[in-house]
Amino acid sequence: MLPPIADRFVAGESADGAVAHVHALDDAGIGAIVNHLGEHYDDPADARADTEEYLRLLERLPATDPPATMSVKPSQLGLGVGEDAFRDNLDRIVEVAAATDTFVWIDMEDHTTTDATLRAYEALADEYDGGVGVCLQANLRRTPDDVARLADTPGRIRLVKGAYDEPAELAHRGGAAVDEAYRDLLRRLFAETSVGIAVATHDDAMIDLALELGTRYDRDCEFQMLMGVRERRQRELAATETVYQYVPYGSAWVSYFYRRVRERRENLRFALRAIVDS
Ligand code: FAD
Repeated sequence: MLPPIADRFVAGESADGAVAHVHALDDAGIGAIVNHLGEHYDDPADARADTEEYLRLLERLPATDPPATMSVKPSQLGLGVGEDAFRDNLDRIVEVAAATDTFVWIDMEDHTTTDATLRAYEALADEYDGGVGVCLQANLRRTPDDVARLADTPGRIRLVKGAYDEPAELAHRGGAAVDEAYRDLLRRLFAETSVGIAVATHDDAMIDLALELGTRYDRDCEFQMLMGVRERRQRELAATETVYQYVPYGSAWVSYFYRRVRERRENLRFALRAIVDS
């Protein structure tokens, strides 16, 4: 059983809880991005076990509107073991997902994983004609180049502020600099790319800008937020926009919850604010 604070952010320790949550979201017109918690595996057997878990999950995801999706972490699928191991596991998942028309997101981890993650995304986006998406982080200085590189790749880009504590030579540091980078990247995504755009943030200023850009460029986008954070806002936005909620589940919830809090001081505020404000 999850303790009360954790069960606000995590759908349960098993896929049963995640599937029940996907149904509840569907009743509110919100789509699910289901993630089985796990990361930083050194043992190929662990990466294979999580791959199998995703394959079982694919058989259980209910038909919803908008359709349920999944999100996987590269280090969970064996990137720490080697790029080949990661690619083999990801390929298996995406192949089975494509057969059931299930969209697969690839989370982005720290900067040491960016190149390998983008290589995997580009190969699969071409092979499965847009059945996959990848996350890009506004805090990384390289991201404008990555947006240009992926501008016409047939897939989706999820733009986030970035959850990892990166060195200053590689990343903007501090809220204002990251916000400015996020705004700039949103404009580039709408103005200079043909990708599907996912605006993953709880920040109303970024959401408003995305809505404005959508009108200006006559383009749709989807909004994504985390389970347990600003859920009232998620339901309001879902009345007029496509909204997805990131739904983690699994026994590794302790690291999901506490790592975010430990990593950056802002994330402690973030977690506490989520509890107070939602
Ligand atoms: P913040 O700067 O944390 O908050 C901005 C503003 O939003 C606040 O000032 C406040 O006005 C408002 N706000 C935020 N939270 C609340 C609240 N609870 N109540 C009221 N107002 C609030 N990061 C990665 O590095 N890789 C990933 O793959 C990744 N995937 C993600 C997927 C999704 C769907 C989401 C939502 C986030 C993901 N992240 C990922 C995390 C992301 O990088 C940020 O760390 C996280 O979303 C916090 O940033 P923020 O944009 O919400 O803005």
